[in-house]
Amino acid sequence: EEAREALARLVVDVPDFPEPGIVFKDITPLLADPSGFAAVVAALAAGGRDADGVVVVDKVVGMEARGFIFAAPVALALGVGFVPVRKAGKLPRATHGVSYALEYGEATLELHEDAIGAGDRVLVIDDVLATGGTVAATVQLIERCGGVATAAAMLLELSFLPGRATIGDLPLTALMVV
Ligand code: 5GP
Repeated sequence: EEAREALARLVVDVPDFPEPGIVFKDITPLLADPSGFAAVVAALAAGGRDADGVVVVDKVVGMEARGFIFAAPVALALGVGFVPVRKAGKLPRATHGVSYALEYGEATLELHEDAIGAGDRVLVIDDVLATGGTVAATVQLIERCGGVATAAAMLLELSFLPGRATIGDLPLTALMVV
């Protein structure tokens, strides 16, 4: 509840960013509010626990760049490792890569091959679910490593876009749906 109240108050609509007609959800005011930020991290971390509060994931994956901000403290809260998914060419060692379609063109995300072990259960964290392309590519990367994406948790789901359909049956918690 505290997290939902913080999101309602501290995520700001920015019209026409990054291009005309897009209303961008700016999360930076939330980051500047320590109690709101803490409430949101705690609510996201619930995605990695069962009903009894037992941690049921082995890794937390966050996607560049805003996913990092939330996934790292969630990993610490759960007592498991944080793994970054990055844009192409940023990770220094051997990687898996998955390309996916953007509105215009294509993007590639990468993950270190040894960052996730066979059978690892992984919680996927990002700020916003829009078309779902970023989450779907991340799930494929986790599977290439032999891991299993067991849940995803996001601050915001844009329900006018087909994100849910894109990610299929991956259980997703969205703290706020617009
Ligand atoms: P998708 O791949 O689901 O279309 O887009 C999700 C990615 O784009 C996320 O990594 C997210 O950070 C970013 N994104 C898309 N729209 C917004 C937005 O309105 N606000 C923020 N903060 N990020 C967005």
